Parts: sequence; C-alpha cells; structure tokens
Amino acid sequence: MKHPLLGGCACSKVRYECLEGPLVQLICHCRDCQQASGGAFSAFVIVPRDRLAYSAGSLRYHDVTAESGRLLRRQFCCECGSPVSAHWPDFNSVELLTVASLDEQSVFKPTHELWVSRAEAWHPFHPDTIKVQDGPGSEVVRDPLRAYFAARRNR
Ligand SMILES: [Zn+2]
Ligand SMILES: [Zn+2]
Repeated sequence: MKHPLLGGCACSKVRYECLEGPLVQLICHCRDCQQASGGAFSAFVIVPRDRLAYSAGSLRYHDVTAESGRLLRRQFCCECGSPVSAHWPDFNSVELLTVASLDEQSVFKPTHELWVSRAEAWHPFHPDTIKVQDGPGSEVVRDPLRAYFAARRNR
C-alpha cells in the first residue's frame, strides 16, 4: 500500500491526504449506500481520522440512520456533490473514504460485501469477497479497528 493516500472530489475543490493505509475495505449494498453513491453499492476504505487531513474545500453532509440504528454522516463536496467520505458521529476515530474519491482506485482490495440481501440483480458481486447477508458482525469492522488502535497504544 502506497502512502499517503490522496484523493478528492470531481471538481478538485475538496482534497485530502491520509498518512495511513486502509484499515478496513468493504462494499455495501444497503439502500442508503445505493442512494448516496448513485449506483448499485458504495465502496469504502476506512482510515484513522487523526491520520487524515482535508487540505482544501468544504464538505456538506447528510445524516442517515443505518438499519443498525447507528447514525452515519455522509459527506459530499458542496460545489460538485461528489460523495467523498463519511463517519459515525458516535465513533469518530475513523473516517470512511469513498473508493471513487481516491486518486488511485487500484489500491482497493475489498474483503467483505455487506447487505448482500439488498443487492441489485443487475450488478455482479466481487469474486473474492466474503458475502454478508445484512449488517456486519463485529469481526468485519469493529474488531479490526479496535485491534489497530490497541496496537497503536502499545507502540
Ligand atoms: Zn467538488
Ligand atoms: Zn451501506
């Protein structure tokens, strides 16, 4: 994984730089992700927020309550509307970056696909991911994030 991760929106008014590679990489087929992306799913890499800096532009956001009951703040460029990132306000040590916002999307290696039960029939699945019928168990997102922050504390 090359560092830093660079990215931004379609009009380049929003730019970011992340000094840590992705901690979690996933595809989500839930209805919210379909609507927010404008496509069949959203693809995200999750990074630690304290290694991420927005270097330009400003984001607007739209809060959605996921089926898990957890609030997700989806952030987009206020000029061009590109979905750039998201985070959980009640767990704000990480940021989800949309894969489309990455300058080098080829770094994306998703491990899981979530909400497969909501996936649209007109789009095939990734061949190498673990398919999760609905929301993620703790081993998909929470455990790897906890392990990362615990390892950092011990360094
Ligand atoms: Zn923009
Ligand atoms: Zn989703």
